[in-house]
Amino acid sequence: MKRVSIRPENAHQAHLLHLLRDIGPISRAELGDAIHLSRSKLAVELERLTDIGLVESGGLAASRGGRRSGIVRLASSLRFVGVDIGATSVDVAVTDPELRVLAHRSEGIDVRQGPDAVLAVTLDLVAKLRADGHAPEIHGAGVGVPGPVSFREGVPVAPPIMPGWDQFPVRSVLSQHLGAPVLVDNDVNIMALGEMHAGLSRSVKDFLFVKIGTGVGCGIVVDGSVYRGVSGSAGDIGHIRIEDDGPVCACGNTGCLESFFSGAALARDALEAARSGRSFALADRLAQVGSLSAADVSGAAGEGDPVAVEMIRDGGQRLGFLLAGLVSFFNPGMVVIGGGVAAGLGHLLLAEVRSVVYRRSLPLATGNLPIVLSEMGAAAGVVGAARMISDSVFSVSDGS
Ligand SMILES: [Zn+2]
Repeated sequence: MKRVSIRPENAHQAHLLHLLRDIGPISRAELGDAIHLSRSKLAVELERLTDIGLVESGGLAASRGGRRSGIVRLASSLRFVGVDIGATSVDVAVTDPELRVLAHRSEGIDVRQGPDAVLAVTLDLVAKLRADGHAPEIHGAGVGVPGPVSFREGVPVAPPIMPGWDQFPVRSVLSQHLGAPVLVDNDVNIMALGEMHAGLSRSVKDFLFVKIGTGVGCGIVVDGSVYRGVSGSAGDIGHIRIEDDGPVCACGNTGCLESFFSGAALARDALEAARSGRSFALADRLAQVGSLSAADVSGAAGEGDPVAVEMIRDGGQRLGFLLAGLVSFFNPGMVVIGGGVAAGLGHLLLAEVRSVVYRRSLPLATGNLPIVLSEMGAAAGVVGAARMISDSVFSVSDGS
């Protein structure tokens, strides 16, 4: 496959590309105001970017008095692919250069089937999107996986829920098949990037993104970049021990946050409440479907089942206690709570988390702190993955 690799040649060009991605088409005059380059220097860099094929002209802007300024924008043929591999599904989207989703496909998988099977499904989804004409060329792909990743090598590292993926070269295999640069990170970090690009934390440069799915994780965004830590495990808050005695966690320890509150923990507690007869609502649901998930807990809570409501309140309190510490330590500009389970638990969860964090954190840290539910849903992962690779493609060099 033809390899597409075009990159800016210097830091000014890289800055221009990032600006055009984040603010969209803009007149040369306004661009000049935003980037502090002389008119002549700006003209030179834009001409170079046009020659390379990264920027194009978009007609004339409305007059600001005097001669009308030309509009510039990223080349409309640029395409990024965002891939979000979850425990039970893979989502693939094609975006335009400003990272708007042009087309999106999803398919059920079991990540435990291993990398060969799951990446084959992923490549098949990309091929279908291309067959539909959405990406004649691919300029880069970002990939999120549900486990720890060595970002530099693009390989999962001892991922607990992904048997067979340890050290598998996800990045180089996909890059070879797609003929384009690829970057791989864990799913929570790409969701945080998606929130930063198009979500509620769009204007916030320092924030925490808490994902509540089967497990619990936290993306840490510092000054507009994801903070990964020395070995890539920063933000793994699901395995912070919150009680010495507690349920055994998937990681083998006891008392982790995630063993008390997560999609998996809610499903376990719901089953217990149904079988012991403590909750008729949950017992009913179990009798109808034969199994219970976190969605049944939200459903039962919505019907007013006091046991389900209490489970969500208790989970929100435990998460809140932990977040209160993180907020005092990190002093974020916002906390965004997302992920499939959080969306279902909704405002009941949010109210509990807010009340604990506002009560227990330092007033200086919470005085101006919005704690909000994500509004992006499944788009956060794919948009964030596209953002990750576009950051790299629009940089002078990243070694990929
Ligand atoms: Zn654990």
